Amino acid sequence: MDMNFSDAYVAYRKQLQEFLKGWPLTGDEAKLPKEEQERIFRERGIEAGYVYFEIPKEYGGAGQEPDVLKGAIIAEEYARTGAPGNGIDQGPGLLAPTLLEFGSEEQKRKFVPPTLRREVRWCQGYSEPGAGSDLASLQCAAVLDGDEWVINGQKIWTSNAMEADYLFGLFRTEPDSPRHGGISYLLVNLDQPGIEVRPLKQMTGGLDFNEVFFTDARTPADHIVGQRGEGWAVSRATLKHERNLIGNPNMMREHFDAAVELARNTLRDGRPSIEDPIIRNRLAEIEGFVRTAEMSNLRQMTAAIRGEEMKVVLPMMMNKLYSTDAMQMITSLAYDLLGADGMLAPREEDFASYARTHTPSGYVEQYIFSHGPAIAGGATNIQLNIIGERGLGLPRDLRSSAK
Ligand SMILES: Cc1cc2nc3c(=O)[nH]c(=O)nc-3n(C[C@H](O)[C@H](O)[C@H](O)COP(=O)(O)OP(=O)(O)OC[C@H]3O[C@@H](n4cnc5c(N)ncnc54)[C@H](O)[C@@H]3O)c2cc1C
Repeated sequence: MDMNFSDAYVAYRKQLQEFLKGWPLTGDEAKLPKEEQERIFRERGIEAGYVYFEIPKEYGGAGQEPDVLKGAIIAEEYARTGAPGNGIDQGPGLLAPTLLEFGSEEQKRKFVPPTLRREVRWCQGYSEPGAGSDLASLQCAAVLDGDEWVINGQKIWTSNAMEADYLFGLFRTEPDSPRHGGISYLLVNLDQPGIEVRPLKQMTGGLDFNEVFFTDARTPADHIVGQRGEGWAVSRATLKHERNLIGNPNMMREHFDAAVELARNTLRDGRPSIEDPIIRNRLAEIEGFVRTAEMSNLRQMTAAIRGEEMKVVLPMMMNKLYSTDAMQMITSLAYDLLGADGMLAPREEDFASYARTHTPSGYVEQYIFSHGPAIAGGATNIQLNIIGERGLGLPRDLRSSAK
């Protein structure tokens, strides 16, 4: 088996690496606020054909021909340099691809371009106090009143709702239909009197999570994605993108390489930690996970090129499991290497999920946060059930709530 990219793709990677030398910005541009610098470089990436490369130009993308291998090269190189590119936040990472697949023409034109430009920020409203893994039991209700939906109920664990302008989420619109059949996917403007967002403090010290309360909140009737009662299928598309983002092996590789550096630059018994046999053993074990995820990702790409849908989905699910386990191992090792510095509390700049702050307090935050992704986007036990049932054809698990 030849695991190397062909000459044409090697040349494409070189060209991209040249382009990425433009980040970080220099001269007067380097004095601009961080968000402005990111906006400038992202725009350049779109013009050069690398950022949002498969998204048609009329929706704000680079309008390139779909190409799985180019997509993988772009993701790898942007991850390696940390340059602002596609982004993995809820808007560009989750909602935009969902709208491109299921949205009406009007929704695509109205929402996708400003979402890609980060002018409209989104949060995801699925989970409720009584509906997490068993999401189909959600109760937050939307009732059509003339040309508007009227929404009442509560969402929880809504990441980034404090900063978001809009929420995309699941609401019960057909109370007489059973579970999955009664749910619709709605887009809701958060800036209105019927909505209250209350932050929840996490054990990292950050405030990413929120509760969102709806009291006669309103959204236009045409802010429904897909058909009435068919929101479940739309949400599966969003979830596919979420699991793909969490399972991305580039992030694992970046954090693993940083842990190796940390092992080189910290001391144990007066010697570099990397010379300690126990540390070497742990690093070798983790590298096994990282390489397995990278290989699994290559299998996923091969299947995608061949159009073998099921062979794409399975490695993707496996990658989410590998990556969340491996990230816990990596961050736990980094935490152990810190010694007394491990007692530092995370600081404000460390709070962005898996922030790239490779400082002692940043490693502490990453260690504490590493437990979250094993729950987000479908808890590990649920992933195992799905892999067993759909992937391996094992008998279905007992569903206590199934009617
Ligand atoms: C970092 C992070 C970000 C998140 N962001 C968002 C967000 O933006 N929007 C949003 O809507 N939600 C978000 N969530 C919520 C997340 O989707 C839920 O936490 C998740 O679906 C699990 O639901 P739960 O917390 O209610 O746990 P539960 O469903 O109550 O599960 C508790 C435990 O029971 C296990 N379990 C449950 N059912 C089964 C079963 N059938 N078989 C075996 N084991 C089972 C689970 O694996 C878990 O260990 C986020 C969560 C995290 C951690």
